[in-house]
Amino acid sequence: MAYRPEPDRDSRPWWERIARREFAVQECASCGTPRFPPRAFCPLCRTEGCRWREVAPVGTVESWIVNHQPFVPGRLDPYLVVMVRLEAVSGCLVYGNWRSERPPEHGERVVGTFTEVTEDLTVLDWAPAAAGGVHGHPSGRTSLQ
Ligand SMILES: [Zn+2]
Repeated sequence: MAYRPEPDRDSRPWWERIARREFAVQECASCGTPRFPPRAFCPLCRTEGCRWREVAPVGTVESWIVNHQPFVPGRLDPYLVVMVRLEAVSGCLVYGNWRSERPPEHGERVVGTFTEVTEDLTVLDWAPAAAGGVHGHPSGRTSLQ
């Protein structure tokens, strides 16, 4: 059985956008602080309201972890989850699966790439920006094909 994220009230808009291959950051409607993952309240000012800002899925590698424990059902091999600092939104860190044959390097430029896991599940992974001349842009049409 493949792992499936379970969208809730706060993360559903995120998953709906990802399914449409759109990348957007949730921002506080009051102070503009980015929220990732999406959540109900601003961590800074506790405001509930938010807006979505579509940005290029481009950033630099901040850190990463290698999972050796099978936290995800069906995923037995060690897999790498990378934390990315977005170029377009200062202070916003996002994370996702790493898509490369080699490990990431701290500070290297990466682009988000949409991976269709199943017909009704798409996720955003991260890959080296140099691979195949891939460029992320606001429409989110990135690919490593
Ligand atoms: Zn706020």
